[in-house]
Amino acid sequence: NEPAAFPSILPGATLGVMGGGQLGQMFVHAAQSMGYRTAVLDPDAASPAGLVSHRHVAAGYENAEGLAALAHEADAITTEFENVPAAALTALAQLKRVAPAAAAVAIAQDRATEKNHFRQLGVPCAPFAVIDSEAALQAVDEELLPGILKTARLGYDGKGQITVADRAALREAWQTLGQVVCVLEQRLELDYEVSVVLARGFDGTIVHLPVQRNIHRNGILATTLVLPGHIAEPVAQQVLQAARRIAEGTGYVGVLCVEFFVLGDGSVVANEMAPRPHNSGHYSIDACDVSQFELQVRTLAGLPLTAPRQHSPAVMLNVLGDLWFPSGSQAPRTPDWAAILGLPGVHLHLYGKAEARRGRKMGHVTITADTTEVALETAARAARQLG
Ligand code: ADP
Ligand code: MG
Repeated sequence: NEPAAFPSILPGATLGVMGGGQLGQMFVHAAQSMGYRTAVLDPDAASPAGLVSHRHVAAGYENAEGLAALAHEADAITTEFENVPAAALTALAQLKRVAPAAAAVAIAQDRATEKNHFRQLGVPCAPFAVIDSEAALQAVDEELLPGILKTARLGYDGKGQITVADRAALREAWQTLGQVVCVLEQRLELDYEVSVVLARGFDGTIVHLPVQRNIHRNGILATTLVLPGHIAEPVAQQVLQAARRIAEGTGYVGVLCVEFFVLGDGSVVANEMAPRPHNSGHYSIDACDVSQFELQVRTLAGLPLTAPRQHSPAVMLNVLGDLWFPSGSQAPRTPDWAAILGLPGVHLHLYGKAEARRGRKMGHVTITADTTEVALETAARAARQLG
């Protein structure tokens, strides 16, 4: 699994990204600010990243001509989401440098593969069973109930998940999910949730951002807190050790985020991994001297990785489309950005999505301050503005 030495691709070259969402857009921003040209492949003519990139290839992820066009434009290619078909990345890798590799992305595409991978690497995760047949359903161990049934593929933001109390509910839930391959996980009593973003270079160097604490609402990340001393040292150590083990055991090159559950006894279990920057790492743009997107540029380009330093306590609040629909209004209303920007240390990031929809990630706000107290107090005021 030792990564081969890869020559640096220097500013002036073109970096490509599969996917044109907000993660791709922030990658493009970071690449351009370092003097790279950028190319984005996304079928949507108005994708957030496509709109700000030097070049936008408007084609489907499996369109051979589109992939050839991207490979022609770009000197190296990365991805902004895990559901890019692995075959597309494999095809691109025959033409240009691709990181992370198709094999690593394929693991993150499938919860069953992902959990087996964690297990194999000795990384603790929630007890689970793969439900892919009536027989598997019947053989489910009693200890997995109550549990959460999750589709193995294509779930995000809590979608494709149903909590099940008993066997009858499990059977019904599997039917509701269309009897596709699922993972049943034991429902754990979470003390809190954390994640960590790391970057691993072609030479095996690993650097990481601080461990982040995450609060979800309706299955969607709502708030990330990154406050000095907020996470107990033994928890942070377990998280970092597990994330490193996953990166090394996967031969991973690029930015990797791993989500964890912290249990009441202080033990830590891995939940899932994202082979890309992550919503919970957005604060790094404003609160760290190297953002997760600059880390993505550096790993892809084979540039040196230096340890990021957080220079301010930070709170990140997601801005969902719901904000455009105050108290049940039918027509969208532009939020009062001036009021939010009037708070000290507030950094507003909007992704330029044309249409606001409930539950859609439209942007985020990062609050930085000199002290934890001020950061929390300002975040509480910003949260009131953000509904
Ligand atoms: P997604 O891909 O939608 O992010 P996750 O597997 O991360 O799916 O689940 C979303 C959220 O649901 C988690 O962040 C956590 O709050 C809750 N959750 C998921 N699995 C479990 C579990 N086994 N026990 C308790 N809570 C869970
Ligand atoms: Mg998750």
